[in-house]
Amino acid sequence: MFDHGSDGATALFDMDGFVVRAQMLEDGEWWLLVETAAEVVGCPSCGVRATGHGRRAVEVRDLPIMGRPVRVVWRKRVWRCPDGDCGRKTWSETHDEIAPRASLTRRARVEICRRVGQGGDSVAAVAAGFGVGWHTAMGAVVEHGTPLVDDPGRLGAPSALGLDETSFLRAGPGRRRQMITGFVDLDRHVLLDVAPGRSGRVVRDWLDQRHRSWLEQVDVAVVDPFRGYATALADRLPEAMIVVDHFHAIRLANAAIDDTRRRVQQAMLGHRGRKHDPLYRIRRTLLVAHERLDDTQQERVVRLLLTGEPHGEVAAAYLAKELLREVYAARRPSWARSRLRKFYAQCDRSNVPECRRLAKTIRAWEAEVLAFHTTGRSNGPTEGINLLIKKIKRVGHGFRNFTNYRLRLLLHCGVQWQTPRTARVRGRQPRFAA
Ligand SMILES: [Zn+2]
Repeated sequence: MFDHGSDGATALFDMDGFVVRAQMLEDGEWWLLVETAAEVVGCPSCGVRATGHGRRAVEVRDLPIMGRPVRVVWRKRVWRCPDGDCGRKTWSETHDEIAPRASLTRRARVEICRRVGQGGDSVAAVAAGFGVGWHTAMGAVVEHGTPLVDDPGRLGAPSALGLDETSFLRAGPGRRRQMITGFVDLDRHVLLDVAPGRSGRVVRDWLDQRHRSWLEQVDVAVVDPFRGYATALADRLPEAMIVVDHFHAIRLANAAIDDTRRRVQQAMLGHRGRKHDPLYRIRRTLLVAHERLDDTQQERVVRLLLTGEPHGEVAAAYLAKELLREVYAARRPSWARSRLRKFYAQCDRSNVPECRRLAKTIRAWEAEVLAFHTTGRSNGPTEGINLLIKKIKRVGHGFRNFTNYRLRLLLHCGVQWQTPRTARVRGRQPRFAA
């Protein structure tokens, strides 16, 4: 049964023009019986004062109260025009918050979008909290999220652009792995957009949709060493300096270490690395920056490299990685240049195919590597956003639909949400109306 309503329930419900007549808790959810307080209403056609013609109940979901889903039963008034000559016979009340045939109030839809978008919560969890189905909740995210994402002001005016690839769909039965290209504002650390695919074409198409003045303000672009990206950027942003930052360069060097280690293990043992193999035991430590290892760890690396391989090939790859890190750590461009020569010399001398290949790649990108020192720009913000992207993917248990995926990513990493600030609980004592 409904309890008798109160001013308190009306105050908590807090929807303009509504009075809560009754409330009850049933099956773990709140039912609120609400009505508007309107008594005097004119006919929308002729303006004559309308007369009441009964009520009609509609039901919608609203914001949860104290963690419980809420059903609002609105007993809508039906009005009648008393003027026999008027074309309008009867009509029922309307309210901005409760659209005809809506299953959720407007404010509930906005909140669902905010929790999924800004909060990064899963659609399923938010839907359950509001007592609606997944599709209804996702509908609210699309309805309120799309205008936020489509807002042209969202792209701002970045002076530095970061480009990176992340995977969208893993390879599966009858399906290849699908990559997406992310565009990041390196000034504000905001994800500008994602586009399906990883190619120069993707970058060109995206840049072609931008206004000329937007393109002209970009003077640095940070990329991973992928020729397609660089060519497209040189093509569409001829004034911008292209940088290959340390994240990506060191990732290449780490790949060279891994490749060398696997090859040496296979050659020596005739199988892949196993738990007790010396090289396998240090496979992760080898990828850590040397100065971040403590003395014991450094000694262990050296010892296991000495016992684990006869020709010092993994050690050479490790040294190459450290020398490349020195290049990036250089504080002046001229120092970086001379350290780069040291790195080349070490790789060329080493006779390790993986090191030579690494040196060849870095030589091909030398200008972009050294541009890191002249611009001081790195893809650090992009790496941070990649972590958020992974989080959204995990929360969503993977995505099949690219449009939904893009919306979720941009709502989480590409939209500035306006959140009202609340005061701390302690030390604040409003005067309650008893
Ligand atoms: Zn009328």
